[in-house]
Amino acid sequence: MDNDVQLHLTEVKTQIAQASLRAGRAVGDVALVAVSKTHDADRIRPALLAGQRVFGENRVQEAKAKWPALRAEFPNLELHLIGPLQTNKVKEAVALFDVIESLDRPSLAEALAKEMGKQGKRPLCLVQVNSGAEPQKAGVLPTDADAFIEDCKTRWRLPLAGLMCIPPVGENPEPHFKMLGEMAARHGLRDLSMGMSDDFPAAIACGATHVRIGTAIFGRRDYSA
Ligand SMILES: *Cc1c(COP(=O)(O)O)cnc(C)c1O
Repeated sequence: MDNDVQLHLTEVKTQIAQASLRAGRAVGDVALVAVSKTHDADRIRPALLAGQRVFGENRVQEAKAKWPALRAEFPNLELHLIGPLQTNKVKEAVALFDVIESLDRPSLAEALAKEMGKQGKRPLCLVQVNSGAEPQKAGVLPTDADAFIEDCKTRWRLPLAGLMCIPPVGENPEPHFKMLGEMAARHGLRDLSMGMSDDFPAAIACGATHVRIGTAIFGRRDYSA
């Protein structure tokens, strides 16, 4: 069944528009990043046919296997890397992605700057902030974030567009969203990637420019394969 993807996509877009209006924001202010990780091309294609052009993947190898063929089929795609990036995959990531949302440490910033120079391609970068300071989670710690953001801009001269966070599961996400918004404002950064299937209306109320939504569009992920 592919129609369910198109139906869910329409529902999600309606909910994004409603949340935007409730927040006094213009419809179209918030970009939907459709998170297609674990789903194959046949499941993604209905979303593409319905006009969706911005997608998120969390693994470089998986994206490399799926997206070059889809890019050939559908022009104007915008592919976001939303998962942790190992330094040894930077070359592939710069080649594949239009936006890298998981910039979270100096060694990665340095490797990205070098590789962008080599390839002459400069995907936009978002700094991922570990807003809940969770030990198992990727992202720069809030206490280190201001200095890291400045270094990304002035030392490594990366094309830094904004910030991303994944609030702790089971917590009220709003304080995390607000902290991220204040941090972005402090640094004059435009993009705020925050909000997933369960909390995107709250993220939009707090100023999200990008919501990353997987389950609500594609259904539950099967990791058993
Ligand atoms: C998987 C993932 C999402 C999407 O989560 P859903 O709850 O399925 O909407 C968003 N952001 C990141 C970083 C993810 O890894």
